[in-house]
Amino acid sequence: MTLVLIGTPIGNLGDLSPRAVQALAAADAICCEDTRRTGRLLQHAGVERRPLVVVNDHSEDAAVAKVLARLDRGERVAVVSDAGMPGISDPGERLVQAALAAGHAVEVVPGPSAAVTAMVVSGLPAGRFVFEGFLPRKGSGRTARLAEVAAERRTALLYEAPHRLLRTLADLLDACGPDRPVAVARELTKLHEETWRGTLAAAAAWAADHPPKGEIVLVLGGAPALQPAADDDVEQAVRERLDAGDSVRDAAAAVASDLRVPRRRAYAIAQRSVDATRQGTRNRSSGSSGA
Ligand code: SAM
Repeated sequence: MTLVLIGTPIGNLGDLSPRAVQALAAADAICCEDTRRTGRLLQHAGVERRPLVVVNDHSEDAAVAKVLARLDRGERVAVVSDAGMPGISDPGERLVQAALAAGHAVEVVPGPSAAVTAMVVSGLPAGRFVFEGFLPRKGSGRTARLAEVAAERRTALLYEAPHRLLRTLADLLDACGPDRPVAVARELTKLHEETWRGTLAAAAAWAADHPPKGEIVLVLGGAPALQPAADDDVEQAVRERLDAGDSVRDAAAAVASDLRVPRRRAYAIAQRSVDATRQGTRNRSSGSSGA
């Protein structure tokens, strides 16, 4: 009947909301990642133990089938993850899609999420931000994602494990340059909560000196706005293309994309350059014939 996503604390159990407790108590079954962890949460909340369905990266398909069977029987099934909001770098999304596809209701009891918590404490612009979760660990997928993150104008939120932090900061330093602002938010809401703020170069040095422990969110300032290219720069780029044999149209399209200027502007500059060259040639030839 109803699938209920419930946000749970990212460290401090005091962040479990009264509504989350009610929703856990009202559930016929609870879908969770780890029965011991959720058992402790229920004990803390004073909620009698409920039937638990385990869902993790390896068992999500099987869990979907079990949860759908319960929903079909008219049950109310709660979904929690080990910490934070289910569905955010945690199981949940497929359960929601399957429940919706089968015509069941989906509700949410919101709670903390490390990403949003780190965003607001970082001091970096929160007007527009983008959640990147964990970067791919290696290979071309990682390289491509790093390039995307580096070009991103919005503040980016990344999750990272402590033993991979140094590597990730080094890769971000390579991709974004030394001056990009960053915040490293660690152990949020817990005893050793700490938020380091500075540039990527300083962050890499700091993390090398103080290998951080615990759970970490990186909040990366967005790429600075590019200065619009000056007419002289556009003309020089266009000239090089024309000299290499490009048509006016092709030269303008390529330069528009390379220098991120409107194609119409690049075309006008390319055409002007061609006209000026033709005029120069004509003047030279009429000058020489008159000599
Ligand atoms: N569903 C969770 C949420 O809503 O934030 C995220 C789960 S994801 C598997 C775990 C990652 O979240 C950690 O590796 C870390 O990057 C981040 N995280 C979770 N709790 C955190 C905390 N208390 N402080 C900093 N980062 C945390």
